[in-house]
Amino acid sequence: MSRIYNFSAGPAMLPEEVLQQAREEMLDWQGSGMSVMEMSHRGKEFLSIAAQAEADLRELLAVPANYKVMFLQGGASSQFAMVPLNLLRGKSGADYINTGMWSKKAIAEGKRYCNVNVAASSEDSKFTTIPAQAQWQLKADAAYVHYTPNETIGGVEFHWVPDTGEVPLVADMSSTLFSRPVDVTKFGVIYAGAQKNIGPAGLTVVIVREDLMGESQSGTPTMFDYKTQADAESMYNTPPTYAWYLAGLVFQWLKRKGGLQAMAEINKRKADKLYATIDGSGYYRNPVDKDCRSWMNVPFTLADANLDKTFLAEAAEVGLKTLSGHRSVGGMRASIYNAMPEAGVDTLVDFMQDFARRNG
Ligand code: PMP
Repeated sequence: MSRIYNFSAGPAMLPEEVLQQAREEMLDWQGSGMSVMEMSHRGKEFLSIAAQAEADLRELLAVPANYKVMFLQGGASSQFAMVPLNLLRGKSGADYINTGMWSKKAIAEGKRYCNVNVAASSEDSKFTTIPAQAQWQLKADAAYVHYTPNETIGGVEFHWVPDTGEVPLVADMSSTLFSRPVDVTKFGVIYAGAQKNIGPAGLTVVIVREDLMGESQSGTPTMFDYKTQADAESMYNTPPTYAWYLAGLVFQWLKRKGGLQAMAEINKRKADKLYATIDGSGYYRNPVDKDCRSWMNVPFTLADANLDKTFLAEAAEVGLKTLSGHRSVGGMRASIYNAMPEAGVDTLVDFMQDFARRNG
């Protein structure tokens, strides 16, 4: 068996230990005689798996008791609709911060349900920066403020949490949740598609402050109502059981690794190494302002774009795969989530330095 270093933005690498454990438990989960995939979601075996995953998630993120944690389907993209459907609560508008392609998708969907006020945008700078909060034009009567703490495509990350006072803060943390500690008390809603730092695709983690539930807009599909899902403990219908189980294994792996503070230190070190290589090369370039560069997604371009294909082919030969940039921006992108070993980043750095020497 040979495993590659997979720099995909998602679905992304999973920790090898987790995959090994899943393999060992595949045919017979803990003496039950069944695979987790074959279990009733209402049976005691799966209920214990689900409860353990939630308990571990709550411990890792220090989720306070007045927040519900849900394991849903539909991806982060469904949350673009669920947020306005549930959080408007009689108000007509919401504030959105536009820092990249994923913000724009959330804004476009939000516009189908309410008056969207784009309170700040970095589109003029081609999404290479984050507007300081002092420049935001927030509305006092906004139902919520939505932002994207990490833009997976542009590689732009907030290293601070906005202060929105009494107005609930909503965060699409798809590509940053579990990469570092986060103060959940500052948020009304946090959501994330699982396929980056959590587990396989098909699962969406949603954390909602309890008092924000129960006033969904009329006409909201039952499945899209946070209260329905919370009251049913994410089992209003059949949940994505296997993805939930694997997420649970990832949470246990995170705990064994020392939790999110330990992950933050490793993630910062990995990102620093890669940015230092880019900045010090005179050959590679990352356009993002230094104080808002992502720890998770590192886009970069080569001095000569004609060599992109050669770069990708030679990288693949040494086991470094899925490095091409998003189709909308081109160039390269290295996604270095929790499960990317530091040795993977070291191998990439060595390869990049060698490639620049040979072609610069
Ligand atoms: N938001 C962000 C920040 C993302 O990176 C992605 C997926 N790449 C999405 C939303 C969409 O997630 P999903 O495919 O789970 O709907």
